Amino acid sequence: MAALKPEVEMPKQTPEERIHNFEEVAQGYTEEMAVEEALRCLSCPNPQCIKGCPVDIDIKAFIGHIKEKEFDEAIKKVKEKNSLPAICGRVCPQENQCQKFCVLGIRGDAISIGRLERFVADWELEHGVETPTNTDPTGGRVAVVGAGPAGLTVASELVKLGHNVEIFEALHTAGGVLMYGIPQFRLPKEIVQAEVDYVKKLGAELHTDVMIGKLHTISELFVDGYDAVFIGSGAGLPRFLRLPGENLKGIYSANEFLIRTNLMKAYRFPEYDTPIDVGKIVAVIGGGNVAMDSARSALRLGANKVYIVYRRGREELPARHEEVENAEEEGVEFRLLRNPVGFIGDEHGYVRQMEVIRMELGEPDDSGRRRPIPVEGSEYKIDVDTVVVAIGQTPNPIIQRTTDGLETTRWGTIVADEETMQTSLEGVYAGGDVVSGTATVISAMGAGKRAAKAMHEYIMNKKK
Ligand code: FAD
Repeated sequence: MAALKPEVEMPKQTPEERIHNFEEVAQGYTEEMAVEEALRCLSCPNPQCIKGCPVDIDIKAFIGHIKEKEFDEAIKKVKEKNSLPAICGRVCPQENQCQKFCVLGIRGDAISIGRLERFVADWELEHGVETPTNTDPTGGRVAVVGAGPAGLTVASELVKLGHNVEIFEALHTAGGVLMYGIPQFRLPKEIVQAEVDYVKKLGAELHTDVMIGKLHTISELFVDGYDAVFIGSGAGLPRFLRLPGENLKGIYSANEFLIRTNLMKAYRFPEYDTPIDVGKIVAVIGGGNVAMDSARSALRLGANKVYIVYRRGREELPARHEEVENAEEEGVEFRLLRNPVGFIGDEHGYVRQMEVIRMELGEPDDSGRRRPIPVEGSEYKIDVDTVVVAIGQTPNPIIQRTTDGLETTRWGTIVADEETMQTSLEGVYAGGDVVSGTATVISAMGAGKRAAKAMHEYIMNKKK
């Protein structure tokens, strides 16, 4: 059997170079590389890859256009289903989605669908973005709460259908986690803003610095004349370990650490006026994308040693494989099957040591992953002077607390129908992390698409 051609690698900054800067690590395909990679695609008569795409991109068709060097047609095909392709091409966990179903993956490397999506999106940004003409106005008015991927998707889908859409964002800038969480070296903020601009060009109106639940409640939005409301307020409240010593100076939540670094640009202090104090030995607690981003940011901010402390094993790390590899290449040290049990400070209240316990894996738990069990008597101490806690986030409860009749779960997420994303209240829809808990950009966008479809039907019925 003939050997399959391997995937075309994407150029990256070397680890030695990139740990000294916040520039993007992965540099994207050239036209030649993109065509070469696209030509590996078998154009299956019954493509399986599309099954793994939560927003149903016609993957075979867009890759087909790349094969023919029709890059403008390729990006049009992608944008029929996805208004944020330069973002998704960079951060989607493709290995668990579209690429997982690629038949080439059975015997070799799956097609690099994400890299090709990124290539056509960047090609368009370079050559000028085309905006589709919208359909006739419906007269429908929609309020979208939160300008993360879920809210931006709902907004772009509904303006394209002719509705009047206004987005209310609590922060001074749109993009949600894409702006305040994911670092510049993985997702440049200029790319996020270019895609936010696209949604605005489509016709959505953006109001920043508006906290719904404080400035206006959901019911006040209906009094103001909106026909329907979408809540896409994410899960931005950090979870803590609740361990002795956790209040010592030098211990950050990943939220604070990453917001200071990315949104407030602490890595360019004093040019930007928010500083961040990073010591020489940093321990990051957690094993997801947030932990990898925190660890890699700490290295770039000058730490000599950075540990990832994770209570399960390598197989169970929830972060994207590519990001685990990048972290390892950069010198992040993984302390797997370890869990912190407390922190020890000096006389000035700064953290100096962390006590950890070894763990072993037992039977699978509710999440399907093997349960970590502490090994009695195996505690030991490691020296640290900065700790970043990256063990997950929950939704901010402000909207839930100010909206009578909005059903929520015991984790503070909003209950919504899986297909329509309708909440317990008529005309109120919700999606993204505020419903699912922390998940992915593309799953937030998928929920946004389903909500937009249902909201359109709801508004059109109301207007009959
Ligand atoms: P968010 O992106 O959180 O957006 C919600 C928006 O609502 C925010 O802008 C917020 O300010 C605003 N808001 C909140 N409350 C209010 C209010 N009351 N009024 C008005 N506005 C409000 N996913 C991936 O697919 N790949 C990755 O590589 C990846 N890496 C990640 C790295 C980090 C550090 C983090 C934190 C997450 C990462 N994720 C990743 C997860 C992904 O970013 C989220 O699942 C996704 O952003 C959820 O989108 P959302 O629109 O639901 O919420």
